[in-house]
Amino acid sequence: MYFSPYMFHDPTYILVLIGLILSMAASAKVKSTFAKYSRVRSSTGMTGAEVASQILRRNNVLDVQVRHIGGSLTDNFNPMNKTVNLSDSTYGSSSVASIGVAAHECGHVLQHAEGYLPLTLRATILPVANIGSRVSIPMIFLGILLGAARGGFGQSLITIGIWLFSFAVAFQIVTLPVEFNASRRALAILERDQVLYPEELKMAKEVLTAAALTYVAAAASSALQLLRLVILFGGNRRDD
Ligand SMILES: [Zn+2]
Repeated sequence: MYFSPYMFHDPTYILVLIGLILSMAASAKVKSTFAKYSRVRSSTGMTGAEVASQILRRNNVLDVQVRHIGGSLTDNFNPMNKTVNLSDSTYGSSSVASIGVAAHECGHVLQHAEGYLPLTLRATILPVANIGSRVSIPMIFLGILLGAARGGFGQSLITIGIWLFSFAVAFQIVTLPVEFNASRRALAILERDQVLYPEELKMAKEVLTAAALTYVAAAASSALQLLRLVILFGGNRRDD
C-alpha cells in the first residue's frame, strides 16, 4: 500500500460525513420530540421521580435510589452506586415525556437485576471498547508514520488499531438491544400499572423511539468509520 497526502481528502470521507449528519438529525429529533411532549401533563399527575420509585418498589428493587441530577436528557441508571439519576427536566415533571424517560431508566434497573444477556455482554466489551475508542486512531496514525508501506511493524499497529476500533463499534451495536428493550419494558409497565393512558402512551413511545434513534445513529456512524478504516488501511495483506 502506498500512502499519499490525498488519503485524508479521499472519497471515503463521505462515510464520516454521512455519520455526522445522521447523528445531528437524530439529536435534533430527540430534542424536539422531548420538548413537544414535555408540555403534555399526564392525567395521573405523577412526577418522573414518583413513577421511578413506584416501578422500583413494585418490582421489589429496594436497593436502588432515585436521585436528581442537573442538565437535560442526562438521565441514567448507574449500576455502580445503584442510583437512577433523573435530570432537571424529568425528576419533578409530570409530563408524559418525563414519565417515559424515568420508566426507561427503571427498565435498565430491571435488566440489571435479572442479568439481561445483552447488558452483560456490553459490560464485558466495555473495557476493551474504552481502550479502543481512545487509542485506535492514534495507533493507526503512528502506524502510518512508521511506514506501513513495508508491511512491517507499522502495518501491525494499523491492524491492531482497526481491531480495537471494531470493539468500540461492537459496544455501540450491543447497546441497541439494551436500549430498545429498556423502552419496551418501560412502556409495558406504564400501560399495565395505568400510569399513562393509551393516548399518553403513544406520546411516551414517540419520545423513547426518538431517544433510541440517537443510539442507532451513533452505532451507524461508528460502523461507517470502521468501514472507512478498513477501505483505507485494511486491504493490503498481499504485501506480506
Ligand atoms: Zn437507556
